[in-house]
Amino acid sequence: MKEKKVTKIGVLTSGGDAPGMNAAIRAVVRTGIYNGLEVFGIIRGYAGMIEGDIFKMESKSVANIIQRGGTILKTARCKEFFTYEGRQKAYQNLKKHGINGLVIIGGDGSFRGAQIFSNEFDIPCIGLPGTIDKDIDGTDFTIGFDTAVNTAVEAIDKVRDTADAHDRLFVIEVMGRDSGYIALHSGIATGAENILIPERQTDIEDVITALTEKQGRKKLVNIIVVAEGEKFGAAEITKIVTERMPEQEVRMTILGHIQRGGAPTCFDRVIASRMGYSAVECLIEGRHNVFVGIVNNRMHFIPLNEAVKKKQKIGEEWMKIVKILST
Ligand code: ADP
Repeated sequence: MKEKKVTKIGVLTSGGDAPGMNAAIRAVVRTGIYNGLEVFGIIRGYAGMIEGDIFKMESKSVANIIQRGGTILKTARCKEFFTYEGRQKAYQNLKKHGINGLVIIGGDGSFRGAQIFSNEFDIPCIGLPGTIDKDIDGTDFTIGFDTAVNTAVEAIDKVRDTADAHDRLFVIEVMGRDSGYIALHSGIATGAENILIPERQTDIEDVITALTEKQGRKKLVNIIVVAEGEKFGAAEITKIVTERMPEQEVRMTILGHIQRGGAPTCFDRVIASRMGYSAVECLIEGRHNVFVGIVNNRMHFIPLNEAVKKKQKIGEEWMKIVKILST
């Protein structure tokens, strides 16, 4: 561990936005100031670091934001940060302000960038997992997942009302290009007939057999939840079910970006606040290149280079629950 004392810190949000990022920024700024640090906001993630879009933050800079979705610091994906030259420009800009510690709120990609940057320029970096997909290994929760999944549940409940009124089957696509967590949680919470996710191979015959069997005993079937990254995709599933079950009216709904926005839930505000506070503590204590996770309700510090996308198998038991509860 290096012993240089951190006195001025920068905070940025990077990659995909997630509700609760503002609560995390607020916690970082206020904990930093409480501990006598100067805190700088960096606009549009690594892009702003390269362009020098950096400003000093005060306690009041983060007033009235804990309840707001999105991120007041804005976020971006930045190709230039993949190059050494880009990262060097970013370092020069930090140096101009005397910034000697960074808090990065983002996903595994942002953490990879932080790790490389930190190794090259000796700036301690602390990551906070901000992603609606909950797909970072090493933490039970990520900032934004709870809000996104609750938004999906609210929307699916509404679709179910109209599905029920017309005896229609809706195939509903939720977010998750690589990850089925939003689908799994929102599908269970809305009593979906089936949940199709990228982590499991979809057997289309199984899907049709289950639907036909339920139809045979006059059980109303309303909802199939499909994650964005599932191999067939919601449109193809809708087409196949329509062809194979011509007597069943089938519609498709894509929930889309509403899942990213909106006021963060209490849960997301609280974990973001705890994580933001912990990130500053980490920098003060001299920790380097970790991200802050929560495991069994305790703060955990995981090396940034271990922040890999969660490629967890969704176990048989989850699918058994879905099957039994939808009979
Ligand atoms: P997320 O953080 O949500 O996973 P991305 O994967 O798009 O989002 O990463 C966000 C940004 O982090 C990228 O646009 C890039 O600027 C930076 N980044 C990601 N991977 C690397 C890398 N291997 N080297 C340098 N920078 C990276």
